[in-house]
Amino acid sequence: MPSEFELIARHFTRDTRHTILGVGDDAALIAPSPGCEMVVSSDMLVEGTHFLPDTDAEDLGWKTLAVNVSDIAAMGARPRWATLALALPDADEAWIGAFARGFFACASEFGIDLIGGDTTRGPRNFCVTIFGEVAAGKALRRSGARPGDEIWVSGRPGRAALGLAHLQGRTVLDEARRADCIAALQRPQPRAALGLALNGLATAAIDVSDGLLGDLGHILEQSGRAAQLQIAVLPAPTLERQAWLAGGDDYELVFTSPAARHAQIAALPLALDLPLTQIGIVEAGPAGQIDLRDASGATIQVDRLGYDHFQG
Ligand code: ADP
Ligand code: MG
Repeated sequence: MPSEFELIARHFTRDTRHTILGVGDDAALIAPSPGCEMVVSSDMLVEGTHFLPDTDAEDLGWKTLAVNVSDIAAMGARPRWATLALALPDADEAWIGAFARGFFACASEFGIDLIGGDTTRGPRNFCVTIFGEVAAGKALRRSGARPGDEIWVSGRPGRAALGLAHLQGRTVLDEARRADCIAALQRPQPRAALGLALNGLATAAIDVSDGLLGDLGHILEQSGRAAQLQIAVLPAPTLERQAWLAGGDDYELVFTSPAARHAQIAALPLALDLPLTQIGIVEAGPAGQIDLRDASGATIQVDRLGYDHFQG
């Protein structure tokens, strides 16, 4: 049975690229680039709440870090360092090795150094604190949306929720969509490059972890604005449309930007190889209110969309 110290040395100690002092001392030492502010966020994944008990260890390692990268992207910042606090029921080295492989695959993809953490016995639980940096005063906050701003979303949200619904037997996806939706759930691709590109273009941003309507609602509440959404731009099949609006766990970005920057935003999909869809407009109005319209301009009641299908 390996000791805690051996587990850390074997699985969670790798060379760092931009760290003064990493794993092994009482604490790590890092220095932000000149002129930058540090951006800090934590996200925890708990077995049974955030992942199914039989989730592949390597996928879980990837996702544990990826969901944190997504928060840094939503701030328009660059991810740089992370710590990992984990609880495991036993020292299953094959499982831990696979988890570490997935974790470091994500770390190297996004240029992140693992600089420390904590390792303890207990029900499976993974908590990452991620540190990023952004030019001073330039972070994208949730509070910056203004009337007339366009509302955009990246990628095709809802696939992760559909993948989960399939795995839990609440829906049956056809072959064509199954692998894609399960990959969206288990290997989310945080929109790091988009987040950086939006710095200086967007007025507000958030990542979609709890469903498009809910997360857009946070931007609107914190900006003191309302919005009108055009349902006609969303995917036609009912299930996918519900998933777009209500599904979570996709880690796409929702952002607002002035109409005058439409052409600059519209040029990003080609540069980033990532679809962007303009779904609505920010309006002056009751903070947080979202008015959904169909193609004819008629208002749609949210409960008619049946989005509680995905609320387990
Ligand atoms: P302490 O007793 O001071 O908490 P630990 O023995 O928990 O120290 O950790 C020793 C070193 O290993 C520290 O640098 C800590 O940050 C690092 N560490 C512990 N667990 C992990 C982990 N899962 N991933 C990365 N680093 C870790
Ligand atoms: Mg410790």
